[in-house]
Formats: sequence, C-alpha cells, structure tokens
Amino acid sequence: MSLVTERESLTFARFHRLRRTPALRRLVRETRLDPAMLVLPVFVDARVDDPSPIAALPGHARVPIRKVGDLAARAADAGIGAVLLFGLPDATDELAIVADVCLCEYTSHGHCGVLREDGAIDNDRTLEILADAARVYAGAGADVVAPSDMMDGRVAAIRSALDSSSHEDTAILAYAAKYASSLYGPFRDAADCAPAFGDRKAYQLDPPNRREALAELAADVAEGADALMVKPAGPYLDVIAAARARFDLPIAAYQVSGEYSALHAAAQRGWLDLRRAALESLTAIARAGAGIVVTYFALEAAEWLRQR
Ligand SMILES: [Zn+2]
Repeated sequence: MSLVTERESLTFARFHRLRRTPALRRLVRETRLDPAMLVLPVFVDARVDDPSPIAALPGHARVPIRKVGDLAARAADAGIGAVLLFGLPDATDELAIVADVCLCEYTSHGHCGVLREDGAIDNDRTLEILADAARVYAGAGADVVAPSDMMDGRVAAIRSALDSSSHEDTAILAYAAKYASSLYGPFRDAADCAPAFGDRKAYQLDPPNRREALAELAADVAEGADALMVKPAGPYLDVIAAARARFDLPIAAYQVSGEYSALHAAAQRGWLDLRRAALESLTAIARAGAGIVVTYFALEAAEWLRQR
C-alpha cells in the first residue's frame, strides 16, 4: 500500500493543526476578554479616613469617600468598564457608575429588607425604601442602579420611583438570579452585612433551581430591567448560558468574593497560578454568555490583558 493511500484512509480530524502556535490559537479564539466588560466592586466606607484592607479579599480595601475618585480614576485608566459602588456614590467621571441598592448594609440585623414582628421579610414595605434609595443614588450621579435585595416587585417599584423623579435615564441592572450561595462570606465581612440571625434562603434563589431563575429573570424583564445579573458566576454558568439564550438584554455575571478568595488562597499556597486561573475563570464566565463581568480581579485582569 502506498503512503498516499494510507494517508487517505485516515478519517479522524486533526484539531491540533490550529492549536500549534500562540498566533494560531489567538486567531481562532472564540471568546475574548476586554477590560471594558469588567466591573470593579468598590466598598465605600464613610467611617474610615484611610483605606482599610479587607483580609479575606486580598488587594481590596474599604475606601473613604474622598478616595473613591482616585480609585475610579485608576479603574478608568486601566480601561475597566464601570465601578460598582457599595455605599454612597461620589463624583462621576469618565467611568460608568453602578450603585448597589440593598438594605443589608444599613439594617441592624443585616437582612436585605425590613422585617415583620415574626422575623420574616416584609417584602412590600421594603419596596418603598429600596425605591427611595435608588432615587437618592440616581440623584447623586449613578448611571445605573443595581438592586441586589431579591425582593419581589422591586424592579417595577424602582422604575416607577425613578421615572416620577426625572431619572428616566437611570438604568436598572437587576440582580435577577441571585442565589443563596455559600460563596458570599468575604463580601459580608467587607460590607458588614452578614445577617445577625438566620440566612437569606427565604428570599434568594435555591442553588438547585434553574427554571425558577429563568422565571425571576423574565419577571425582571417584564418590570423594566435594562440588564440582568446572575450571581454567583462560576458555579452558575448554566444559568448564565440559559439567560443569554432566552433574553436579548445585556447579561452580567458577578464573580463573587468566595470565588476570588478561593483562587487567591490556593495561589498563596502555590497550588495554582493566580493569573492563569483568574483569566480562565473570567473567560469561562464570558464564554457562558456574560457580556459584563463584575469581578474583584478587574484591575489586575485589565493589566494582564494589556500585557498579553
Ligand atoms: Zn442585601
């Protein structure tokens, strides 16, 4: 048998051909991260005079109000798309400002809404307060308000409060599918919002449920959300993909504090390469369908992407 005939008889595909060199791999890459799609969470703290490091979120600090502008300028220089502020927004600049709207940072019990006497969340009474908060943030210069409380009906309540106070141009990024996840621990230290008792399972999504998440997303679309968020990101890629397939609005995903801290902790022990693991995790979130990624890696990732 001749060599040619032997070759012709091979019927398998040679995928290695396009993986052979960095240039070929770059050429056929299906998902590209861009700093402009990254959102940097910022913890604003009116009680501190200097940045106060957050142990469980390496590289992050609670930032005094007067320093928020500096951090936002750094983020803008890095090409990051937006900052997500927890706490009162300060001056607006080149960067999009997203303001988190929730009550847990401000309630003594740390739950995301006001409580009834029996300790259950009073959903409807919470709506008015959320709507007021959203109006204040819009008035302070937020381009986008992002309700993270998971109260039923809050997008409609916030939309109508914004529209009736001349903030019709303020967009709503709804944390539409926010799960009662085990991965929020470091954030709760950072934002001082761990519930003093109980948990959030009565109002956040149950981790095993995907269809219910899609129903939540559909409700927020119907109530007037401009963009939708899935949170956490990494363990919920199927929800991100389903959201991307079903809805035409921008889909955001929040890579939460536990996802970030876990990679850092492993890297500190020499078990992972932080840069590769972080970029892989962000790429996976983008590949699943998120066009906006909120991540504590935003500043570093922007730098890494520039170096590539
Ligand atoms: Zn909350």
